[in-house]
Amino acid sequence: MRWIIDNIFEGSELEMIQTFQVRTSKKTEFIDITRSVQEAVQKTGLKNGVCILFIPHTTAAITINENADPSVVQDIVTELNKIVPFEDRYQHMEGNSPAHIKASLVGCSQTVFVESEKLVLGTWQGIFFCEFDGPRNRKVHVKVMGDNGLINREP
Ligand code: ZN
Repeated sequence: MRWIIDNIFEGSELEMIQTFQVRTSKKTEFIDITRSVQEAVQKTGLKNGVCILFIPHTTAAITINENADPSVVQDIVTELNKIVPFEDRYQHMEGNSPAHIKASLVGCSQTVFVESEKLVLGTWQGIFFCEFDGPRNRKVHVKVMGDNGLINREP
């Protein structure tokens, strides 16, 4: 069994972490990265498994929510800014404590199932990169794992 797994992994991108860049343009914004994630998954050749997304930043995050009506994520941003105000008696000298707090509230990782090379998302769901201290050049790490450890690539 082991040789099959080794053979399938050989030369594939399955063991690698893929990384793509996100250029943000505002202090606080949610950017729909669903298409970029889907492309990253397809590049691996994975048919069925899971896709793990990780944001390697302390003032940015990732979430899944409605991407049909853009006012939904705008409302999320507005309310997060009320919960964590830009000005308060923060001790962090860099001055971006609100961004650190929002990043922790939203979280730095998401997992999405992959079936037949497609992300399994609800009809109204999209994957959003959440910028809380932009504008900046940001990264999204993508790792896929196949069912039973297999990539299930077509011959
Ligand atoms: Zn800081």
